[in-house]
Amino acid sequence: PLPPQEQEEAGGEEEQDTTTSYSDVITEDAITSEGLFDTHMIDRDLFYEIPLDMVDREMLLLTRIARTPDGAGYGGSKVNTSTVRWERDGDRVLLRLVSYANVADDTTAIAGAVRNSNFEPIIMAFDVEVMNEDSTALVVEVTDLFTDDITLLGLQSFRRQAYGVRRVDADRTYVVRATAFPTNVEVRRVLTYDATEAPSNAASNTLSMEMHHSMLLLPDDLMEPRLCDERVEYFSTRKIDYGLDEQRAVTRCFITRWRLEPSDPAAHARGELVDPVKPIVYYIDPATPPKWVPYLKQGVEDWQVAFEQAGFSNAIIAADAPADDPDWSPEDARYSVIRYLASPVQNASGPHVHDPRTGEILESDIQWYHNVMNLLRNWFFIQTAAANEEARGIRFDDEVMGELIRFVSAHEVGHTIGLPHNMQSSAYYTVDQLRTRFVCEMGVAPSIMDYARFNYVAQPGDDTCFMPVVGPYDKFSVEWGYTYYPGKDRLSEREDLRAMVVEAQENPILRFSSPTGSDPTALTEAIGDDAMRASDLGVANLKRVVDNLTEWAYEEGEDYAQLEELYNNVVGQWGRYTGHVVANVGGVVQTRKRQGQDGVPWEMVDRDRQQRALEYLNRQVFATPEWLLEADILDRFQGTGAVELVRTRQTQALNQVLNVDRMKRLVEQEAFNGDDAYSLGEMLDDLRSGVWSEAGSGRETDAYRRNLQRAWLVRMAELMEDEEAMQSDVVPFARGQLGALRGELAAASGGTSHRATRLHFEDAIARIDAVLDPGG
Ligand SMILES: [Zn+2]
Repeated sequence: PLPPQEQEEAGGEEEQDTTTSYSDVITEDAITSEGLFDTHMIDRDLFYEIPLDMVDREMLLLTRIARTPDGAGYGGSKVNTSTVRWERDGDRVLLRLVSYANVADDTTAIAGAVRNSNFEPIIMAFDVEVMNEDSTALVVEVTDLFTDDITLLGLQSFRRQAYGVRRVDADRTYVVRATAFPTNVEVRRVLTYDATEAPSNAASNTLSMEMHHSMLLLPDDLMEPRLCDERVEYFSTRKIDYGLDEQRAVTRCFITRWRLEPSDPAAHARGELVDPVKPIVYYIDPATPPKWVPYLKQGVEDWQVAFEQAGFSNAIIAADAPADDPDWSPEDARYSVIRYLASPVQNASGPHVHDPRTGEILESDIQWYHNVMNLLRNWFFIQTAAANEEARGIRFDDEVMGELIRFVSAHEVGHTIGLPHNMQSSAYYTVDQLRTRFVCEMGVAPSIMDYARFNYVAQPGDDTCFMPVVGPYDKFSVEWGYTYYPGKDRLSEREDLRAMVVEAQENPILRFSSPTGSDPTALTEAIGDDAMRASDLGVANLKRVVDNLTEWAYEEGEDYAQLEELYNNVVGQWGRYTGHVVANVGGVVQTRKRQGQDGVPWEMVDRDRQQRALEYLNRQVFATPEWLLEADILDRFQGTGAVELVRTRQTQALNQVLNVDRMKRLVEQEAFNGDDAYSLGEMLDDLRSGVWSEAGSGRETDAYRRNLQRAWLVRMAELMEDEEAMQSDVVPFARGQLGALRGELAAASGGTSHRATRLHFEDAIARIDAVLDPGG
């Protein structure tokens, strides 16, 4: 602190500042951008000119990573969203954080108490440097907001911890540019941390990244929100509502959706299709390769049929970005854009920005990474080439790749209209339906928001189709989320909406669920109502792919990298089928239901299915997969590794089956359902008879089988020591399996003349003895 004398002098100097004129602050050197509020960059300093009518208005403050070194998330990922407001406090301006975690309607008596418990933090205070010339706006310098260590504008704490972030280095942190638009202001800056564990160039103890900050004006007239229903899930916004007439604090959940209102209310009331007042418009990034533009657009407009079911025509439209309009920018929040990013990332994503008060979606920019095409090539090739000539090759025809792009575009657009993944949708088309032209109209799954991918069930000669489409569940969920009820609010419309769900759910293809870890109907990458049958057909196709791989992946003069990549994708696909089948063992199906609906939400997978799952695993996974071990392929890209490849995959599958939680579910299913259940003992007997079939028969083992059998021994030994297993029936059953196997091995090992098999059996007996009688 300064001595009193000098403080006074410092104060005196400030007083002189009041005579400062606008042009002293915003000099001729300023680079100005006009919009929601004007921004002025003078060298590295940033000034905002905040109109008085924007003071006290609520705005969203969004922080995204724009560019990072490898390993620290990827460009475009969101790190923080908050609601803020500028507040005037004498000759200062405060930037305040607005909290919507707790709310109550302003008219209720409790509203004051809610406001008091939500005292809003001040993010930063700024001196008013000067007023603008007609005194309608406050000029503040906001540079510090972007050079100090402001948590809301920086990396999340989990990332800061992971990278060993100590502090922001203000010398190496600076604003790059600021741009204003009519409803938003965008700031790009370089942010540098001192970080001991930086994800790349760790020796520099530095993490530098480009951050992008948006401040977006929230609407003045609030959209009527729609209450969530977990049976038709939407992305949502949640808060605790103290204003409701309830005897507890109720979490209120609103779905996120665009504001669609009929342009002709009278026609709408007569039940006619009407255009919305304001359609949802997606612009295609001008950087998109022209040949893909029509397919990206098609993916957007594929959703029109869904909105028609909600009563709207032309509700969603794709448009070219205006070519020569200097006022058009993809950063302008008034425009939703499919951004085309030249990047090796194999992905696309569809985030959106919504009003936290109502769930109204305000803007969305889909991030499209160029290399998503490689992912699509691999999936489509591996899953369909056996039955689909169009998928046979390293490079697809443009029309084929275009249709794949259209599919991903439609999926991402689905996210941006509020729809999350519905992994249950694919579980209720039958395997037989998937082999017919049913797919051409209905898609491989009822929802394009499933991870259903392509029709791997179709066999050569089937008259069918291979692609997902905007399907019946998608149409239903848009109908539920977007149907307009004139004159009703969120409470009075609730009855109609609930009735719509109950009626729809009679048809299982209109159900929604997410993976639970134990539900075989809510899986990723699966299609069809029977994983065993679907996977058998899928494996039959993989065998055909392997038989033809060297031919279909052939490119004169090229190396074998593509052959290797595709082969590895075959192995990966085979592993996915295993996962789908395993999920049935000890499986529990969840159907999201509410009181008043028939049936219960939780049901055990029936005994027959569980048993068939074990039968599949023994036959397709634990029997040596000779078809994968094609020397003609493997010798082209590796000198060794086949035995290890099979061992890794089989061990994974075995450990999935012998998962403690799964085995405990089997115990519970038997306790609860008696003989209707597939018991733990039966499962372990079936597994052992498959994995150790040679012990009973005395047949020769091969190197792959011996590895698998050792993996079984290792897992059993682990279970005997597992804390959780010890508190359940799992340990006694494991002990029983080891004892039974020992007896079979002792009987068989004398009878086999195959040297490796005999040694392996003797070794197994010794290992079992060590586990069962560690002291002996
Ligand atoms: Zn998705």
